[in-house]
Amino acid sequence: MAKSKFEYVRNFESEDNLLPNCWIVVRIDGKGFHKFSNKHNFEKPNDLRALNLMNRSAMCVMQEYKDIVLSYGESDEYSFVLRKETDLFNRRDFFHNQTLLYPPSFDARIVLYPSNENLQDYLSWRQVDTHINNLYNTTFWNLVQKGNLTNREAQERLSGTLSSDKNEILFSEFGVNYNNEPVMFRKGTILLRKKITNPNNDKLRQVIFPLHEDLVHNKFWAKHSEILTNNVNKFYNHEYEELPD
Ligand code: ATP
Ligand code: ATP
Ligand code: MG
Ligand code: MG
Ligand code: MG
Ligand code: MG
Ligand code: MG
Repeated sequence: MAKSKFEYVRNFESEDNLLPNCWIVVRIDGKGFHKFSNKHNFEKPNDLRALNLMNRSAMCVMQEYKDIVLSYGESDEYSFVLRKETDLFNRRDFFHNQTLLYPPSFDARIVLYPSNENLQDYLSWRQVDTHINNLYNTTFWNLVQKGNLTNREAQERLSGTLSSDKNEILFSEFGVNYNNEPVMFRKGTILLRKKITNPNNDKLRQVIFPLHEDLVHNKFWAKHSEILTNNVNKFYNHEYEELPD
């Protein structure tokens, strides 16, 4: 290859290989989704169309990148967990009556977690964030939509309140039991690969499942132990049925 006097710029590229033997987490987060969700008339606090589209898009990402062992999504963000040994979008009509005014874009960052415990704590951290945000947003939008408070009044009303206060406002003023809110809003979405049998020919096939389970307590990791042990044969699980598209 011919060398030119411009070659030297290559030296500006620093070695940036990710540390081996670590879990790699890539987290994307929608850029300016506060504005994007308002402009596109998202239902507040949780627009089901948008969450379904995020989940569907993340499934496509998992289909494309086989090294992703688990994904976790909430609000406008998704975390993709790549297996430690790793070497390394689609369009759908989810918004039937809403013209897209401009395309959504996402920022991304990569974080390395050397131990299983770090990875488990990372996912717990995101799910705790989901809980805190969703409890706040659910109370906020009840105060605005049913309580006729302005956004500012609702914000002031909630300032300094504890979780128990928000639960109490929801229950005593709006008859809402927070624990009965849709589990996807409360827990976010976990995408996992599972092997299931095709009832027609008894052959095993792999599918990506959306779950809304608790990640903070250890039950999840015992139930889905194949993730941390990388035991591909243990994926198989009769409990899971294929989802309709
Ligand atoms: P940044 O570019 O810094 O990430 P942002 O405006 O995207 O800014 P975030 O902190 O990421 O801010 O918050 C996401 C915003 O998008 C929140 O206001 C949230 O209410 C809204 N949003 C995201 N997904 C949904 C959804 N499914 N339904 C309703 N609102 C949503
Ligand atoms: P939520 O999105 O649920 O409202 P949040 O705004 O705290 O929560 P993020 O938007 O994911 O969460 O951002 C987390 C933190 O990282 C924020 O302090 C934000 O300013 C910072 N941050 C956002 N994007 C980047 C980026 N690309 N690189 C580095 N830091 C970032
Ligand atoms: Mg952000
Ligand atoms: Mg943010
Ligand atoms: Mg965002
Ligand atoms: Mg966000
Ligand atoms: Mg966030």
